[in-house]
Amino acid sequence: MSEQYDTVFVGSGLGALATASLLAQRGQKVLVVEKHNIPGGYASNFRRKGFNFDVSLHSFDGVVRGAESFKVIEACGVADKVEFLHHPSLYRYRSQDVDITVGHRDLEGYKRELFRFFPDEVDNINRLFSESLRNYNDMCGFLYSRKPFWMRFIATPMVYPRVLRYGHETVDHYFSRFTSNERLKEVLSAQWSYYGLPAKELAFGYFSYPFIDYLQNGGYSIKGGSQALSNALVEVIEHHGGRVELESVVSQIVVERGRVSGVVTRKSGMVKARNVIANISPHAVVEMAGESNFKARYLARMRELKLSVSGFQVYLGLKCPLSELGVGAEEYIHFFSPEKTQQQQYEHMQAGELHADNTSWSINYFSNIDPSMVPPGKSSLGLFTLTGADSWHSLNKLDYRQKKRELVELLISNAEKVIPGLRNYIEVCEAGSPRTMTKFTNNPEGAIYGFEQNIRQSGLFNRFPQKYPIKGLYQVGAWTFPGAGFIGTMLSARLLVDRYF
Ligand SMILES: Cc1cc2nc3c(=O)[nH]c(=O)nc-3n(C[C@H](O)[C@H](O)[C@H](O)COP(=O)(O)OP(=O)(O)OC[C@H]3O[C@@H](n4cnc5c(N)ncnc54)[C@H](O)[C@@H]3O)c2cc1C
Repeated sequence: MSEQYDTVFVGSGLGALATASLLAQRGQKVLVVEKHNIPGGYASNFRRKGFNFDVSLHSFDGVVRGAESFKVIEACGVADKVEFLHHPSLYRYRSQDVDITVGHRDLEGYKRELFRFFPDEVDNINRLFSESLRNYNDMCGFLYSRKPFWMRFIATPMVYPRVLRYGHETVDHYFSRFTSNERLKEVLSAQWSYYGLPAKELAFGYFSYPFIDYLQNGGYSIKGGSQALSNALVEVIEHHGGRVELESVVSQIVVERGRVSGVVTRKSGMVKARNVIANISPHAVVEMAGESNFKARYLARMRELKLSVSGFQVYLGLKCPLSELGVGAEEYIHFFSPEKTQQQQYEHMQAGELHADNTSWSINYFSNIDPSMVPPGKSSLGLFTLTGADSWHSLNKLDYRQKKRELVELLISNAEKVIPGLRNYIEVCEAGSPRTMTKFTNNPEGAIYGFEQNIRQSGLFNRFPQKYPIKGLYQVGAWTFPGAGFIGTMLSARLLVDRYF
């Protein structure tokens, strides 16, 4: 006879692991099924010749004791199992006309830097941050309230008014309430690659929380990489009687008379459950549950939703310490922006036209934060750019390899402009393309952030819902509210449990 669970999870990304840890702590019998041989989805590590690389994490906002984001970590039971390492500075933004270093938890210092480059905008910058802080407080009030979800929902217009006032406008529109300086607006949204859209298209409702959370509470890495967080969540799940089944694809979500009754997995066959929580793309959910269980209108709406952009990351293991290459211990993330506007850069990225003068890219000096991830006397860094997936998925094997080599070469050449001679010190060079993203997560088109966060697909009312029109079937992680990111997917777990369990 098949085993019976309260809740089964399809996939073990952060969204699923966080939800499973919350439910297991409440006494539910949970099973997490993962196709890969390690848990975590994008929140995982891989090893090459003694170098330990974090697949995805560049910067985790706000995970410091006392800050709101840390409450999610505490609720999941991993606050004392994981060490968060703060970055010496939040980031450095480098372009033709502006070179700004944003300090760790130093909003006032950041404002002073902005005043230096935009002396005519002092009042506007002050007004913008005052309102953005009030908006952040409203967001936190809504997201972290202890009140039942329906009560928060009803109270939103009175108690958290800015969530509604600004939630469905673009970042550019919001910034335009305070300034008409186009350059200032671009500098303020220097981290746009974290959200996958330029300010003119990105929903402020999604951007506004991490925007202030990063500035007020800092950016962090996880000691041992994001695998350490995923493993810690697994530990909590197992400690509370749950099970994580690796290397076991879910091939079917079983629906009987309009309600889920379980899943079929490669290792366990039929597994019975009252609830199924999907951590995979809704497209795959529909396929596994059977299209006939959904109304045609529902399917048509889902298929119209735009997928997020993909990304390309080069992971380099170096033969020497970063200090030997002239990189100071205080350096971590540098964003490089060419002279083009964000919108122009984005169009080039989507079209797969990546050249040194038309795309922004970034360096992460990984081993400056966690030297335990590299062999003694060595170092590591990452080079990253967004890219559209279309131009990758249609290539044959040879053309794909060639395109991959060309982009690795471009990013290394870019990096050599700031680290002369870099390529002479490379011991390990690995690259993740949109095809790699799909291979390891099954996410369609290499989407790294679920559905795109434009204003039609973002926020409380417009984001793909956490509940499917089939009883007992739910969604968690980047595809649903609030959206992608380490804190975004863990928050989606907390909100799902608050609202429906
Ligand atoms: C290169 C890169 C850099 C990033 N940088 C940052 C950053 O600096 N800061 C930040 O906050 N966020 C960052 N992100 C985003 C963040 O990593 C993701 O939003 C988040 O980890 C997604 O989690 P998820 O819960 O949606 O699940 P996913 O990570 O998408 O995991 C889904 C899981 O489901 C499994 N699965 C799929 N199909 C099946 C099946 N049929 N059966 C069983 N298992 C299945 C997959 O193997 C996978 O493990 C980055 C992402 C990428 C790719």
